Amino acid sequence: MTIIGTNLPTVHQRIARACQAAGRVPAEVTLLAVSKTVAAATVLEAYGFGQTAFGENYIQEGLEKINQLRELPIQWHCIGPVQSNKTRLVAAHFDWVQAVDRFKTAQRLSQQRPANLPQLQVCIQVNVDGSAAKSGVSPQDALALARQVIALPHLRLRGLMSIPEPAPDFAAACATFARVKALFDELNAHGLALDTLSMGMSADLEAAIHCGSTLVRVGSAIFGGRPLKAAIL
Ligand SMILES: *Cc1c(COP(=O)(O)O)cnc(C)c1O
Repeated sequence: MTIIGTNLPTVHQRIARACQAAGRVPAEVTLLAVSKTVAAATVLEAYGFGQTAFGENYIQEGLEKINQLRELPIQWHCIGPVQSNKTRLVAAHFDWVQAVDRFKTAQRLSQQRPANLPQLQVCIQVNVDGSAAKSGVSPQDALALARQVIALPHLRLRGLMSIPEPAPDFAAACATFARVKALFDELNAHGLALDTLSMGMSADLEAAIHCGSTLVRVGSAIFGGRPLKAAIL
């Protein structure tokens, strides 16, 4: 068995256990395999083990893999920041964009989404722990941005995404994830019909699932450690 062939079932098992502990069913949680820095051949290998949703941070690197694997029914998520000069390529080649945090980007993505493709699925990235280095809209601005995004014809707003600072333990991770979940519920109480709460990574997916995550973004637990350059970005 290859490393991916043993890692993927282990991650599925972690998700199943976390769901069980939280009184949820595993079907509520999508596993997104984060394939940044991983070769297309490795993505193909994971696909062979049944993994169909992949996330890429770096646009150019993602586009190369999307192109190489274009015959396969893979769902590609752009999970990194999207600069204005990259929106056209992202709108043309990805299925999801998870890190929308300003209206201008959303507007460009909608304008540039090719008419023959379904709506681009988007999440708004929220910055709940106020970390200065990270992108993401502040919780108090999320509702206004969500309403603007919903009005765009070629986007479909699916939910929220968050990348909190690594927490020392389960309780600390939960405290932050619970804030994202509360914001998610608040937006839905305003009638937004969001169904996707993207939070949780290799180190903290259990806490995220405990707090209501519906999509965990897992890289190293599937593919092994990344080179340091990628890990610090
Ligand atoms: C790299 C990355 C992940 C995956 O991180 P791991 O700790 O390797 O699971 C998830 N989300 C985002 C936005 C990332 O950049």
